[in-house]
Amino acid sequence: MNIGFIGLGNMGGPMAANLARAGHVVTGFDTATVSIEGVSLAGSAAEAANDQDVVITMLPNGNILRSVAEEIVPAMRAGSVFVDCSTVDVDSARAVAETADKADVLPMDAPVSGGVGGAQGGTLTFMVGGSDAAFNKAAPLFEIMGQKAVHCGPSGNGQAAKICNNMILGVTMIATCESFALADKLGLDRQAMFDVVSTSSGYSWSMNAYCPAPGIGPTSPADNDYTPGFAADLMLKDLRLSQQAAESADADTPLGKAAMDLYTSFVESEGGSGQDFSAMLPRFEKRSRG
Ligand code: NAD
Repeated sequence: MNIGFIGLGNMGGPMAANLARAGHVVTGFDTATVSIEGVSLAGSAAEAANDQDVVITMLPNGNILRSVAEEIVPAMRAGSVFVDCSTVDVDSARAVAETADKADVLPMDAPVSGGVGGAQGGTLTFMVGGSDAAFNKAAPLFEIMGQKAVHCGPSGNGQAAKICNNMILGVTMIATCESFALADKLGLDRQAMFDVVSTSSGYSWSMNAYCPAPGIGPTSPADNDYTPGFAADLMLKDLRLSQQAAESADADTPLGKAAMDLYTSFVESEGGSGQDFSAMLPRFEKRSRG
């Protein structure tokens, strides 16, 4: 396929490189100076999107996505597919889908989980909102860039799935970290805590696959001085999106809000910016009840 790829950062760069390596013709664009193996660079987003079979975007936020969409949709061929893989608010995803629909371009929101390692290794999970026709056209590309693509329904539903998943992740990571810190104060050995919880009803991905305690459980960012991994800043972004969505849908999400408030303090005033999101454990360790 002829593919345009806009936003060649930490995630987009390796995703585009994997598509090129699999034999697709990839034309990329980024506002920063980048060089990606196998990808030829265009002078603008519209040029990268012009007359392609599929255009993929991997951008920082919803406002940037909206402005890039205004620029590229008029350059896209009718019947071509516009796949946005960025994590953005549901409202932006749906607004961009409407712009694409009006131009007979098939829109899809397809945010990912799996992080930079998943982008490099082609093992991402895609959560996809959009029509069956669009999903079927893009499915071979999801297979190259990822290990799984779940079609979640119409436009916006991919972003909805992503932020609901990450709201659970933020809450369970905090619960896991505060429980370890409580266990410490009660004199319970961390290995014993892990052995019990990871095989009991308190288990979760945060405990079992990404244990926030160094030297316990599988290797995780905690074993690398909390170098991300998944940065606390990105967790905060996703929790904010979850609360923005909860506001607009009038959903009661008290734990999601509490998680957002904790990560806000952690990132903005407690030195958590740039650390992995599991560095909540040393944060709790240092604190007392008052
Ligand atoms: P990044 O900052 O490394 O990459 C974003 C790229 O977009 C940058 O290279 C930037 O120069 C480019 N860009 C910005 N404005 C542009 C424009 N107008 N036109 C063209 N290019 C433009 O970020 P990233 O880590 O690659 O994340 C991208 C998206 O993926 C975000 O929405 C993020 O939330 C999501 N995501 C990231 C991870 C992760 O672990 N990094 C995991 C899952 C999802």
